[in-house]
Amino acid sequence: MAEVLVYVDHVDGAVRKPTLELLTLARRIGEPVAVALGNGAAGTATVLAEHGAVKVLTHEASEYADYLVVPKVDALQAAYNSVSPAAVLVPSSAEGKEIAARLAVRVGSGVITDATDLEAGDSGPIATQSAFAASFTTKSRVSKGTPVITVKPNSAPVEAAPAAGTVEALAVTFSEQATGTKVTARTPRASTGRPDLTEAAIVVSGGRGVNGAENFTVIEALADSLGAAVGASRAAVDAGWYPHSNQVGQTGKSVSPQLYIANGISGAIQHRAGMQTSKTIVAVNKDAEAPIFDLVDYGVVGDLFDVVPQLTEEINTRKG
Ligand SMILES: Cc1cc2nc3c(=O)[nH]c(=O)nc-3n(C[C@H](O)[C@H](O)[C@H](O)COP(=O)(O)OP(=O)(O)OC[C@H]3O[C@@H](n4cnc5c(N)ncnc54)[C@H](O)[C@@H]3O)c2cc1C
Repeated sequence: MAEVLVYVDHVDGAVRKPTLELLTLARRIGEPVAVALGNGAAGTATVLAEHGAVKVLTHEASEYADYLVVPKVDALQAAYNSVSPAAVLVPSSAEGKEIAARLAVRVGSGVITDATDLEAGDSGPIATQSAFAASFTTKSRVSKGTPVITVKPNSAPVEAAPAAGTVEALAVTFSEQATGTKVTARTPRASTGRPDLTEAAIVVSGGRGVNGAENFTVIEALADSLGAAVGASRAAVDAGWYPHSNQVGQTGKSVSPQLYIANGISGAIQHRAGMQTSKTIVAVNKDAEAPIFDLVDYGVVGDLFDVVPQLTEEINTRKG
C-alpha cells in the first residue's frame, strides 16, 4: 500500500489534535508515515502509533526552534525523498501552509490548501474545499506530481487504529537558506485556559448584540460550560469588546468546529466566511429575520441575555 507522509504538529512531544485527524484521513489513501521534528520528536511515537502511523521519522535539532520554517521544509523534503509518498498531508495552520507550499515548489507538485475532507480517488486523493466565502463546496485533485495537501482542523474524527509506529531517525542536511531568518525573541500569549480558537471542537461567539465588553462574561460562561473557545464578530472586535485574535470571519480566523454557537450575530457574509463549514450551527438572535437563521441547524429567536444564561445553567446542571 502507498505511504502517505503526515507532518506532525507537536509541542515538546505532545501531539496536537489536528495531526491525529490527519492520520484518520491518511489511512483512507494509504499507510501513514509521520514526520516529527524538533524537541520531543521521539516522544510523539506512542500516540502516533496508536492512531495509525506505521512509521515515525524523527529528527531533533535546535534549528527547528531557532529559525523560521525552512529547516522544517528541508526535513520534510528529506522524508519525501526517502519515502516517495503517494501524498503529503500537513495541518492547515499559517506555518503548515507555508511549509506545504515551499515543499510543493521544491518537488514540482501541485498543492491544495484548507481542505475540509479527503477521500481516495482513482487518480489520487480528492480534496473537498469551501470556496468564495463558503458559497461553494469544491472537490479538487492535484494533477501534477505528488499531492501536497493542507487540511483544516476538525475536518475528520480522531480514531484509534493501532499500528507499528516504528521509529526511524531521519537524516537531514539543512540547506543554506535554513538559517536565513532567526527567531530573536518569544513572548508566550497569556493563557485563558480555553482551547485554541481554530482547533476547538466547540466555538461560542458573540457579536454586536452582546453590547459591551463587560457582557462578554455571558458568552465566556457558556463557552466554559462546554469546554469551548470564544469567538467574536468584527463588530464586537472593532468596538474593543474582545481581542482581534478572537475574530471569526473573512478578515479573522477561519473555524470549522463540530458546534458553533453565534450569539447576537447577524450573519454577514464576511462572518459566515469564517464559520460556515462548522458541522452544527446554532444561533441566538432577537431578530427572527436575521440572515444567520438561513444557515443554522438550530435557531433561537430571543434575547441572548435571557437565553444564554439559562442554557449555561442547564448545561452545568446536567454535567453536575
Ligand atoms: C472587507 C470586510 C471584511 C470583514 N471581515 C469580517 C470578519 O472577518 N468577521 C466579521 O464578523 N465581520 C467582518 N466584516 C463585517 C461584517 O460585514 C459585519 O459588519 C459584521 O459581521 C457584523 O457583526 P455583528 O453580526 O456582530 O453585528 P450586526 O450586524 O450589527 O448584528 C448584530 C445582531 O445582534 C442581534 N442582537 C442585538 N441585541 C441582541 C440581543 N440582546 N439578543 C440577541 N440578539 C441581539 C441583532 O438582531 C443583530 O442581528 C467585514 C466587513 C468587510 C467590509
